[in-house]
Amino acid sequence: MRWQLPAPRCLFFALSKFLHHLMAHYIDYHDHLSVLHVAPTQPPGQRQMQQIAHIYIDGRFVAPHGTELFDLHDPTTGDVFGQVRLGDVHDARAAIAAAKRAFPAWSRSSKADRIDLLRRLHQAMDARKDALRDAIILEYGAPIARATWMAGHAASSFLDAAHALQGFDLTQPIGTAEVIMEPVGVVGLITPWNSNAGFICNKLAYALAAGCTAVIKPSEMSAAQTHVVLEALHAAGAPAGLFNIVNGRGDVVGAEITENPDIAKISFTGSTAVGKAIVRAAADTLKRVTLELGGKSPTIILDDADFAKAMPIALEAGFANSGQACVAGTRILIPASRFDEAIAAVRNALKTIVAGNPRDPATTIGPMVSQAQYDRVQRYIRLGIEAGATLVAGGEGHPDGLGGYFVKPTIFANVTNDMRISREEIFGPVLCLLTYEDEAEAISIANDTPYGLQAYVISASVDRAAAVAKRIEAGRVVINGAPHDPAAPFGGFKQSGIGRDYGVFGLQAYLEPKALLGAQSA
Ligand code: NAD
Repeated sequence: MRWQLPAPRCLFFALSKFLHHLMAHYIDYHDHLSVLHVAPTQPPGQRQMQQIAHIYIDGRFVAPHGTELFDLHDPTTGDVFGQVRLGDVHDARAAIAAAKRAFPAWSRSSKADRIDLLRRLHQAMDARKDALRDAIILEYGAPIARATWMAGHAASSFLDAAHALQGFDLTQPIGTAEVIMEPVGVVGLITPWNSNAGFICNKLAYALAAGCTAVIKPSEMSAAQTHVVLEALHAAGAPAGLFNIVNGRGDVVGAEITENPDIAKISFTGSTAVGKAIVRAAADTLKRVTLELGGKSPTIILDDADFAKAMPIALEAGFANSGQACVAGTRILIPASRFDEAIAAVRNALKTIVAGNPRDPATTIGPMVSQAQYDRVQRYIRLGIEAGATLVAGGEGHPDGLGGYFVKPTIFANVTNDMRISREEIFGPVLCLLTYEDEAEAISIANDTPYGLQAYVISASVDRAAAVAKRIEAGRVVINGAPHDPAAPFGGFKQSGIGRDYGVFGLQAYLEPKALLGAQSA
């Protein structure tokens, strides 16, 4: 078949259709503000329904081509508080095209220009962090202290990336070569619902620092948070097309981003099952991938530890983010010789674990994000009981006086590492206590898992804890409850992922080395 030039009449119709499409779908930012009602701080009775009707392409808020409406739920009650209109494959392609157009100029931008933009993005996010905190509480149900940290963390990602870029040589002499670190290209960034704003900002910050442009597919269940982030990022006045955000389903927008030949790299945070599907789909175009996946993290409490101090640290690690955390320390390993003492310390530490209204500062555990997540946690609690584990706290059903998607903070004792509750990621506040005879067995149980994201060691001796930490197969090992460090690499061994986020390692993940041989003068 011969390829023919389109007839002038067809060309005219195609052009007018295109213009019509543009006029129908592209709207002013001011129009966008007037149609949107975001009122996350109002009490439920007086709340207006939120309608999130726009995505962000080429520096503008646009109505998506996709028409599907997706309900947004308040997890404390289960009520619908709004709807998001989802994008489709056309929207994903438009976003990819915009990022591709913006790439040549941004990839050649100077370090100083990138750092300047990152600082502006930080300021813009910082100015909206209270609104983001409120959206996190409303849509995700994170307790206020956690939600406040999450909003601040999203904002500070941009400064962390600026700092990593500042100290990084984008041109390095290696052997006889001059090695230039070039941005990998247009990147696809896909985020989960349990830390949506944080991962949008973190991934975008390092991608921009490297000189990449981006298409972001946030979790469809986090549209209210995404919207606040988007308004802030827009306010920073970045060149059009540098970042584009398309709300949509994973198997529609996510799949298009994963397969599209104009995307050079995927940075994905989410479940191990979807991570594997992404690797398969990305193989045809040999995309680079960074995957931050699930975990079943061990907390080893060594036999010299003071349990009165150790157990609150262990429970905090296990119940972090209401248990909906990839890094949650859900397998607590205790010395068999001190079992009774450990149970008493658990009961004592549980006094500070409070499930309740996320807006109450005393609350440490909020609801699960969705009915599906509530059902999943209930299923695992039943599995634990059926397997013969002993309930120390919690169990099936809602906590007293709470409805919505709240579950009871649950701890099982007498768990063996072959039980499903000890092997599979539950993603809720359900912890397992396992006993060990000696240090070697503790390390062996800790490593007996397909995952390797994070681990925790608690001991009276930092040196002893560090020696044990070195023998654990995990991307991060936290000693005695040390705080998160945004400069340290973060990512998983084994089926917890590929590659690293954060700091210099996170920056390098968006760079491709190019060796110029013969370029260096003698
Ligand atoms: P998920 O894998 O179901 O979804 C994550 C994202 O992928 C969503 O935006 C979803 O729409 C998208 N997606 C789904 N199918 C897709 C496909 N075929 N192609 C492309 N994209 C697709 O995960 P979730 O339920 O949103 O989040 C919980 C999971 O995330 C847990 O397993 C948790 O451990 C993991 N997680 C890992 C980290 C980490 O840093 N390692 C951090 C947070 C969460």
